[in-house]
Amino acid sequence: MRKSLVFLVFAFVAVTVSAQKLSISLFNDLALQTVLITPETEGYKLIAGDLTVDLKVNQILYISRSGDSVLVRDVSKNYGTWRRASIVAQTDKGIIRFKPIMPAQPLRVYDDNLTFYVEFNRLMAINLVEQDKYIAGVVDSEAGPGAELEFYKAQSLIARTFALSHLDKHVGEGFNLCDNVHCQAYKGRSVRDPEILKATQETKGLIIVDSNNEPITAAFHANCGGETVNSEDVWLKSLPYLKAVNDPYCRSSRGATWEARIPMDDWKAFLEEKGVKVANLSPDDYVYKEKQRKVNYTIGGVTIPFADFRSKFNLRSTFFTIDISQSQIRLRGRGYGHGVGLCQEGAMQQARKKRTFEEIIHFYYTDVRIVNFSDIQPKENLETDSIAVDTLNRE
Ligand SMILES: [Zn+2]
Ligand SMILES: [Zn+2]
Repeated sequence: MRKSLVFLVFAFVAVTVSAQKLSISLFNDLALQTVLITPETEGYKLIAGDLTVDLKVNQILYISRSGDSVLVRDVSKNYGTWRRASIVAQTDKGIIRFKPIMPAQPLRVYDDNLTFYVEFNRLMAINLVEQDKYIAGVVDSEAGPGAELEFYKAQSLIARTFALSHLDKHVGEGFNLCDNVHCQAYKGRSVRDPEILKATQETKGLIIVDSNNEPITAAFHANCGGETVNSEDVWLKSLPYLKAVNDPYCRSSRGATWEARIPMDDWKAFLEEKGVKVANLSPDDYVYKEKQRKVNYTIGGVTIPFADFRSKFNLRSTFFTIDISQSQIRLRGRGYGHGVGLCQEGAMQQARKKRTFEEIIHFYYTDVRIVNFSDIQPKENLETDSIAVDTLNRE
């Protein structure tokens, strides 16, 4: 009885920790050696081994790799070297500036706590951040300021669905997620639009699942050009919730149309590469006027995926017509991005038309449900995730 009670208490604490804070590796694609940090708010402490130092607002600390250890100093004092050094806020309103010196990078600002240690010959910088603040930072990086609250709510669900279903993505390295597109772009705290943090808080815990209660791959892109794409047409894998839908909402937005010109010789060379006998073609054979999205283009009896043209010529989308203008190939295209899943400009327009985030999610993802993460999570996973965070907290 007593034993199971202890276990229950442990499980509850573990769940709370993993649900509230995430550990994110900062500048994960760089071999950080030295960073400069500055508390922007009161109440931060430097904690390293048995050392605890109160930090002042605007106090500058240099954190460097020194062999396998972390060296901490300020302009006048060397605090020593440690296996691990943490910068811990005493409230939930801590804000800290972070500037990589070696290699030099622009300053970023983070919420909550930082922990440093050395691994793979680099300084690891981990942001231990409250979940909603992290989600807001991701939405800010991926969607930018100036949109409607309901749009930010939809984008929050997308970011949270990914984060909470990939908590173990870097578990072997001792943190939950990295801060670049390998996981999700996270450039620090969301400051550009207060609606973003409000959206994450008003959708607290909500994620998108499929008919088997599995978190979905919540793909999104800038503009679909009026029709989204089946996942199998881009990534080969067919997913029942990533199906083509007609989208009237994005057709007059910024990224709705584009034009590109390609030298005739480059176009012909690419077709030759694909097995087309271009010597047998007349100019009319190049012309393609299909108004609906198609997966493949057929010319001279050879079928070529539009995706191949997109990657070869760095095109905005795979949705375009072809004609010849002034001896060049002229492409007139629609949309921006791969076209799978949620169309950001369409979703923004829907939010302007007072559609809710639920309506927006159900519009772009077929037969999905919106649930609270805690309602679908099997217990053993929670414990595994929380151990990673717990290890990180320990000296
Ligand atoms: Zn990653
Ligand atoms: Zn669209």
